[in-house]
This record gives sequence, structure tokens and C-alpha cells, in this order.
Amino acid sequence: MAASSAPPPLLPRLLALALTLAVVAVVVSAAAAARIRASVTPISRSLYHSSDSLLSDIKALVARHPDKLSMDTKIASNKGYSTELFIVTFNHVKESTANSSKIHVLLSFGQHGRELITSEVALHLLYILTEKHKIAGVDLSSFEKILENLVIKVVPMENLNGRKRVEEGELCDRRNGRGVDLNRNWSVDWGKKEKDYDPYEENPGTAPFSEPEAQIMRELSKSFKPHMWVNVHSGMEALFMPYDHKNTTPNGASAHLMRSVLENLNHRHFQDSCLVGSGGGAVGYLAHGTTTDYMYDIVKVPMPFTFEIYGDETATTSDCFKMFNPVDKTTFDRVINKWCMAFLILFEEGLRNLRDAQVVSEGGMDNFVPMGGDIVERSSAGKSSPDKRKLEGLDLGMQELRTYFRLFMLSTVLLMFMFCSRISKNRNRDAGNIFDT
Ligand SMILES: [Zn+2]
Repeated sequence: MAASSAPPPLLPRLLALALTLAVVAVVVSAAAAARIRASVTPISRSLYHSSDSLLSDIKALVARHPDKLSMDTKIASNKGYSTELFIVTFNHVKESTANSSKIHVLLSFGQHGRELITSEVALHLLYILTEKHKIAGVDLSSFEKILENLVIKVVPMENLNGRKRVEEGELCDRRNGRGVDLNRNWSVDWGKKEKDYDPYEENPGTAPFSEPEAQIMRELSKSFKPHMWVNVHSGMEALFMPYDHKNTTPNGASAHLMRSVLENLNHRHFQDSCLVGSGGGAVGYLAHGTTTDYMYDIVKVPMPFTFEIYGDETATTSDCFKMFNPVDKTTFDRVINKWCMAFLILFEEGLRNLRDAQVVSEGGMDNFVPMGGDIVERSSAGKSSPDKRKLEGLDLGMQELRTYFRLFMLSTVLLMFMFCSRISKNRNRDAGNIFDT
């Protein structure tokens, strides 16, 4: 019988080959996905505090310095979601300086959950205000006079619930505990969406001040009436002033005052290497409903700023901890020292400029010798937006998957080609056999 002497049927063999190729494609894709996962840097627990340990260190510090520090806890809730905020107040009590002539400074750290480095700067700054008298060997005693003229309120972890999610492994999350971006929940130009609006990153909430964190911060700003506000973030390195929701800076004397403080700080401490300007103009995208725009437009803070203190441009987009936070001890220490010194110089510049502009009264500056610029490094951080870089990274991940899909399609086409040519050969052979016999 012709059938018994024929080679094994072609179709099952081709099916087996196709199956093998499909398995190979799946394995390769899984390996690629595993590689992407493997490149994600975890939180460096040896460098970074947990939120609990950071809080207990702050409490211990406050207990050691009741003459200079005090701490309040504020709790707020809305529609089943609640949060608490810790506010540390530094007030160097001196009979010689009346509280009414002091400059009020409000600093917030950790508004975005994934930017852990900012809260480490907050803790270190509190040490410097109380018991640490040197930064990287530089004596800070000349700043004592400045500090006597300030009341500083520090919010070390504005987004405690969001930060806890990050600590549990959601390393790319910047939002609060129920998915709202706290830097989009304020009422100035709230809810407006740009073409490149990212609903994951920039969810503004259901209404202005829908979030308890923003409610507490608004109350704090209205009761404390700061002269200077700094919203401290990471993702790049920059010194921003309003506006975030348009690509211009405000007009007039107030804008001149803000710009002069930032430019002096940039010149004295960063050798002009920092990006300075309006958030909306310099960062490359507009942001609506931000805290700094509210502080300027509504609370009328004379000097409202946003500082971006660190960013790693080389980190892949899925590697959020590395993108927003230093991961080795040398860089970690350098960033903390550099920005603590930057705050001291900012206080000095702010105090002098506010008094020159007669926003606050004179006093207490007689023996001050300006310093700074000793702890300086050139900014190696890029000027591109971290959010844009994140998108680029996602694109790269998709590209990798697309490449594997193309390879799979190519092998399928090759298989089909082999299948067709084999059939045509068989037909020719069968036809030959007919002629042969
Ligand atoms: Zn941020």
C-alpha cells in the first residue's frame, strides 16, 4: 500500500513546530517581562526611614528640644477617607526678637508618596535647626542669627497614606491613599486637563479640596500666614516660582522679589546650575490645581516656591524608586547636605529681601555674615519632566513587547511558507509518481 510506505503526515509535524515556536515566543516574552521587573530598584531600607521610624525620630527630637520645637497632629476626613498630618514648629525663643517681626516659613515634604528623599531632607533639616551645627564639615554658627528671626513650620510627610502604599511596594505611586494627586486638588484652575493629561498620575479628585490632606494644608496656610512657602518634590532639580497653570511668571514687584531670591540662591549655592523660573514655563507641561499657585493667588504668600531636589534621568520608567530617590549612600548624603544648606541660604535671602521690600520689619540681622556655596555640585539632573520621562519609559517597555510579537509573526509567516512549499513539492512528487509507475 502506498499509504503505509509514505513519511509521517506533514500537518501534525507542522502543528508541533508551530506549537514549539509559540512556546518559545511566550518564554522569551516572559523572560523580557521578568527582566523589566528585575530592573526595579527596591527601597534602600538601610538609607531610608520607614514612615513610622521617621515619625518616632522626629518625636524624640522634639522631646529633646522643647525650647525650640513643638509638634501638632491634625486629623481630617471626607467621605470615609481620613488622614493625619504632623506639623513641627521651630521657634527659636529669644527675648530680643519679637514674634511679630519674625518671618513665617512653611515647608512641606512628601506631598507625592514616591518621593521619599524629600522627607529625609525634612528630618535632617530639623536636626540642623536644633542640634547639628555642621553640614559636611561646614560650620553653621553664622546662621544662628537668621534662625532667631524665623518661625518655621515643617510638614515632613504631607501624604502619609500615599507614602505607606509606596512602602508596601507601590513604588510608582505619587497619589494619596485613595488615588488623588494632592498637587492637583487645590482650587486655582482646578480640574483643567491638558492634552497630555495622565489620569493615573494627575487625578485632581472630585472637587477642589476634596482631600483631607489638602484641607489641613489649606487651614494651616490660612492660620499661619507664611511669608515663604516651599513645596519640596523630587524627579528633577529645579527652583520654581508661580505659575504652574500657565507658562509665565506673575508681573510686578512681587515677581521681582521671588525671582531675585531664587536667582541669588542659584548663584550662591548652585553655581547657576539649577533651572529657575515658573513651574509651568520651565518644566515643559502645565499643572492645574497646584498648591504653590494657590499659595500665591489666594493666600497671598509673598514667596511661594516649589523645589525639585533630585532626579535620576538614567532610571527606566518602571524603576520609580531610583528615578525619584538616590540609591547609594554617597549620593543620598550629598543630596541631603546640599539641600539643607540650600534651605539655610534661602532663609537668609528671604529674610533680607522681605525686609528690603519692607514686607516685614527690621531687626536682628546686624552681625550676619553671608555664607554658602561651600556645599555645591553641578546639577547633573536633566531638565525634562519626570512624568514625561515615565511615559517615554513605558513606550520603551511596549517597544520591547512589540519586537517579540514581530518575531513571533515572522516565524509564523516562515512556517506558512515552508508549509506551502512542502505541499507543492508533495504534489509534484505525487504527480511524478503517477508518471513513473
Ligand atoms: Zn512630586
